[in-house]
Amino acid sequence: MNEAKPIGADFEPADTGSVGDGKLPLLEKSRGRTEAEIRRRILQAIFEQRLPAGESITEEQLAATFDVSRTVVRQAVARLAQDGILVKSPNKGTTVASPSRKEARDILFVRRLVEPEIVRVLASAPHKFGLVELRKHIAEENEARLAGQRGTLVRLTGEFHLLLAELSGNQVLRRLMTQLQTLTCLAVLLYAEHDDACPRDEHLRIVDAIAAGDGAAAAQEMLRHLTHVEKDLKLDRATPESSFDDAMGWLRGASDR
Ligand SMILES: [Zn+2]
Repeated sequence: MNEAKPIGADFEPADTGSVGDGKLPLLEKSRGRTEAEIRRRILQAIFEQRLPAGESITEEQLAATFDVSRTVVRQAVARLAQDGILVKSPNKGTTVASPSRKEARDILFVRRLVEPEIVRVLASAPHKFGLVELRKHIAEENEARLAGQRGTLVRLTGEFHLLLAELSGNQVLRRLMTQLQTLTCLAVLLYAEHDDACPRDEHLRIVDAIAAGDGAAAAQEMLRHLTHVEKDLKLDRATPESSFDDAMGWLRGASDR
């Protein structure tokens, strides 16, 4: 029954047209899935932690899975690579991003700047900005928690942050938050002490502050929430990461890990 809206449903539709203004899109849509749907499915798999950081994926696999042409898959992969969610490299092919601790810190830094402002906007007119949807989402999170559906819960807690951006009605924020939240999910999988990134009840406190029309309180609750998320990621841990890039950084004397 959990017809939770699919991830990335938000950062459309502006670009669906970019698939082409010619004749191909219609054909491809009738055969299988569209490029946007494929992207959504990949993001959803990451949110449910079914597609882990560093996992290799090939265009052939995706084309077979979704029953679409390689062209459509290539477009989806290119877009996700552009957002830093997939990484293309000459020797490893395409892999799911594997953010370093430094990258995860940078992501959380940006989220702390952006998300308090999103909830401040929503608190300025809670009924206009979809308070009902927020309440419904919190109820779904609770349901998944009670039912012990971990994958669903992790996805829903991530989607909560996307819903806030979506309700703000700002397309740029929606796309930015999809990128930031997806990369956070991957970082959680890699570094978090607990694998459920969002501490319990904190979403509810944010929604309550929005409902009360208290922008300052909503912003403060969001900031507190993101601080907890970051703390759980243990990003200040000194464990060195043994990647080639890190080694080169160290050799240059530029590493700050
Ligand atoms: Zn959260």
